[in-house]
Amino acid sequence: MNDAFELSKRPGAYALLLHLSRPLRLPIARLRRPTLAAGHYVYCGSAHGPGGLAARVGRHLRHGKTRRWHVDHLTERGEVVDVLCVPDGSECELIRRFGRMAAVGEPVAGFGSSDCQQCTTHLLSVPAAFDLTA
Ligand SMILES: [Zn+2]
Repeated sequence: MNDAFELSKRPGAYALLLHLSRPLRLPIARLRRPTLAAGHYVYCGSAHGPGGLAARVGRHLRHGKTRRWHVDHLTERGEVVDVLCVPDGSECELIRRFGRMAAVGEPVAGFGSSDCQQCTTHLLSVPAAFDLTA
């Protein structure tokens, strides 16, 4: 499945375009167990470990992994339909860029952004035909 996307081995930021075909209740007590509606979402993160973006995004694309991060609940129950890799990029800049687009929302405050001082969330709800490269 990784072959479907162009993944850089450099460190940097990435965006996942995810699709949930049914509502998903997130079993995250700290976020008050919110329910995400069926639809499309964009999650932005960064990868600075060994293997860079390819290793981190490859993990997101695999099913059956231990749920370690908030986004693992979405990648396990939903489908990753597109990936954008930005070598040396910042996930917060990606969130700001996508956040300015039409019909984009912030469904869960604090999602994926526990360590972030800049963003309300690293998960956005987006329209169906959303284009990560627009
Ligand atoms: Zn941020």
